[in-house]
Amino acid sequence: MLKKILIANRGEIAVRIIRACAEMELTSVAVYTDADRYGLHVKKADESYSIGPDSLAGYLNVHRMVNLARAAGCDAIHPGYGFLSENPQFALTCARHGIQFIGPDAEVIRRMGDKVEARRAMIAAGVPVVPGSEGNLNTVEEAVSMAEQIGYPVMLKATTGGGGRGIRRCDDVESLRRNYERVRSEATKAFGNTEIFMEKAIINPRHIEVQILADRHGNVIHLFERDCSIQRRHQKLVEIAPSPQLTEAQRQYVGELAVKAARAVNYENAGTVEFLLDHEGAFYFMEMNTRLQVEHPVTEMITGIDIVQEQIRIAAGLPLRYRQEEITRRGFAIEFRINAEDPKNDFLPSFGRITRYFAPGGPGVRTDGAIYTGYEIPPHYDSMCAKLIIWALDWEGLIHRASRTLRDMGVYGVKTTIPYYLEILRSEQFRQGEFDTGFVEAHPEFTHYSVRRPTREIAAVIAAALVAHKGL
Ligand code: ADP
Ligand code: ADP
Ligand code: MG
Repeated sequence: MLKKILIANRGEIAVRIIRACAEMELTSVAVYTDADRYGLHVKKADESYSIGPDSLAGYLNVHRMVNLARAAGCDAIHPGYGFLSENPQFALTCARHGIQFIGPDAEVIRRMGDKVEARRAMIAAGVPVVPGSEGNLNTVEEAVSMAEQIGYPVMLKATTGGGGRGIRRCDDVESLRRNYERVRSEATKAFGNTEIFMEKAIINPRHIEVQILADRHGNVIHLFERDCSIQRRHQKLVEIAPSPQLTEAQRQYVGELAVKAARAVNYENAGTVEFLLDHEGAFYFMEMNTRLQVEHPVTEMITGIDIVQEQIRIAAGLPLRYRQEEITRRGFAIEFRINAEDPKNDFLPSFGRITRYFAPGGPGVRTDGAIYTGYEIPPHYDSMCAKLIIWALDWEGLIHRASRTLRDMGVYGVKTTIPYYLEILRSEQFRQGEFDTGFVEAHPEFTHYSVRRPTREIAAVIAAALVAHKGL
């Protein structure tokens, strides 16, 4: 078994991984830049090491990270998500220096990180993909004739993209010509890679993804699906497991499809196969994420399986503990990404000090966060500062419990997406379990809040008590 794990990440996901290590009685090692000196992961890990003043380069420096792991006596590195998690060079460098990378093989990361190559692999394996270009696009004229074949609307996508960036829908030839260079330059800026390709735009699809676990001994299982259709600008805001929109037959079908996809590339460790589901009920492979995902907790809540612990066991070479038939699920879970953003102001990031934080609690509630009273959210990183995850026995109960919990949670000093989510929960359409990736855009009125939040009043009472106590 592994003994000491360096976590090459920060924020809530570093804290999440530290918790898994603690439960497995493994030593956890955190790293932090100057901007993260007061980060929660630094406090919670067994050991912490500075990686210097550069707020981004610190978490992206392959050699420094691996050297630090060696110097600290670690036998493995967990990359979390983002940063180095899908960098094949990182996985390779770990392997070369005798550090176990907690994730799949470097070559699999590279292949699946290239969406065009991933599509080819899936076509060869008989997994349906979104209709689109066979390879990368070389010229705008090639794009125009491709779009004529596929039929508008089409999507232009960065081949090595992620995080919802470098994706644009083109409704006609004019918008295609306009967006062609735009997507290319977005791809270059965000991913350092100019390659782009084309897919048919599926109209208002549902985003359905399947969690996979695969060990080194050829065992591959899935842990059911997540519905991540609640998105803004191709970025997920709310995730649900299982999808309230699938029939049992669809659930079984897409689960088996994902296992087939994982097997086709000899996948190892935890991974996610993402699909689009159209209004005719057809599933199309979209991409594979070769890492732990932000929304993994909803799957943990319905299956009772700790995905991070399973990742560590798989990396240690142990066989999976469960056969597919042994995976059961119970109830529904939902995750809200608590972003330090102002929904009323076009979701502008709202960094700064958290003057007061009230953690929600009660039955079925889990918070995976990196925030505390007095914490200053650094402006250099993601605006997502916590995740609120709620479980309930049925969909209706989940809506009520989620609404109660969001009103329970209080984050003051910065603006957050909490009140926005309360408006989503009031929507009759959402309550009916009917939503696709166009849902958020179709409801601009969610930015007009109407739900009363009692934590506001509690915060006011505490503020008054503090003033009285200090005799101010
Ligand atoms: P998930 O797929 O787990 O739902 P996201 O797509 O929201 O997660 O991405 C998680 C984090 O990883 C975000 O901070 C995102 O910006 C980052 N990320 C994802 N893919 C890439 C990539 N190809 N390059 C750089 N950052 C990425
Ligand atoms: P990323 O790597 O950034 O996560 P994805 O390829 O997973 O990019 O796409 C992100 C989101 O963009 C999807 O969840 C979906 O909402 C939208 N999208 C991507 N491709 C298509 C498509 N062909 N048709 C319609 N929507 C799409
Ligand atoms: Mg994706």
